[in-house]
Amino acid sequence: MEFKKNIKRFTLYAISTILTLGILVLTVLGFISIGTKPGKGHGIFRKSLPISSQVDLSPPKGTPLFNMSRPHIGDVPYGQAIFSCANPGQVALTFDDGPYFWTSQIVGLLDDLNIKATFFVTGNNLDINRRIDQDQEYQYLLRRMRLNGHQIASHSWTHRHLEDIGREGRFQEMVYNEMALRTATGAPPSYMRPPYGEWRDADEMRDLGALGYHVIMYNLDTKDYKHDTEHDIDVSIGRFNDALREDGRGSYIVLAHDVHKWTALKLVPAMVNTLLSRGYKAVTVGECLNDDEFNWYRDPFDVEH
Ligand SMILES: [Zn+2]
Repeated sequence: MEFKKNIKRFTLYAISTILTLGILVLTVLGFISIGTKPGKGHGIFRKSLPISSQVDLSPPKGTPLFNMSRPHIGDVPYGQAIFSCANPGQVALTFDDGPYFWTSQIVGLLDDLNIKATFFVTGNNLDINRRIDQDQEYQYLLRRMRLNGHQIASHSWTHRHLEDIGREGRFQEMVYNEMALRTATGAPPSYMRPPYGEWRDADEMRDLGALGYHVIMYNLDTKDYKHDTEHDIDVSIGRFNDALREDGRGSYIVLAHDVHKWTALKLVPAMVNTLLSRGYKAVTVGECLNDDEFNWYRDPFDVEH
């Protein structure tokens, strides 16, 4: 009788131990998969990002650039939204939210054809759990992109709604990204695009002007973030082909995102094919606004202490 009781007790003990261990293992695996999960798919950049305890919001290392000189040089306006290129026959392909896994593929394709594009970089992209200041591979990629003639611009540090976070928040979002981009490419940019392509009032534009930024919007939206599957991306290709004047006399700033697979694999090759076949020249945003390349970046050593 005692023996049977012991067996029963042992069995219960064994079952509960196995269950506890199982739950522990599943919990640990769950955490690991959350920590390394790549982008959750299209459309994620349209929402406000939840700030959870797993997100690293510490500032990037390096010289604080809050007191960097921000002169308004050249003829392109500062602190007001710009939607199109200055010259007919030019297409400025622009990519937001990266760099990410697909960026090098896009850059490789463009470089093979000697085509220049503009990349609006989010330094600490919470959605894909990637900080450029802590990732040497992405720093190297950004440096190579700049050396190869692509324009590196800012899309804020953590992709928050700039109109919701006040002046101090806006300055932080822009300056932290400058610090990270300075580390990556050698110089902070003077061109930016607000996250979500949104701004609400004159205050925000005034702040961006005070920070010495050209604010770049777009007049051709591929909406690629909504169509990131092999077949659905044809909708974005169609939007591009329909919008681009066939006589080669239009002038476009095109919005796409280098964080999406089918943008890299299908949309970019299709856009390049269409624009070249219709006689357009693909240029950076700076070139499409007739701005000298010297003005696309700031002097990172011109900092008051
Ligand atoms: Zn964005």
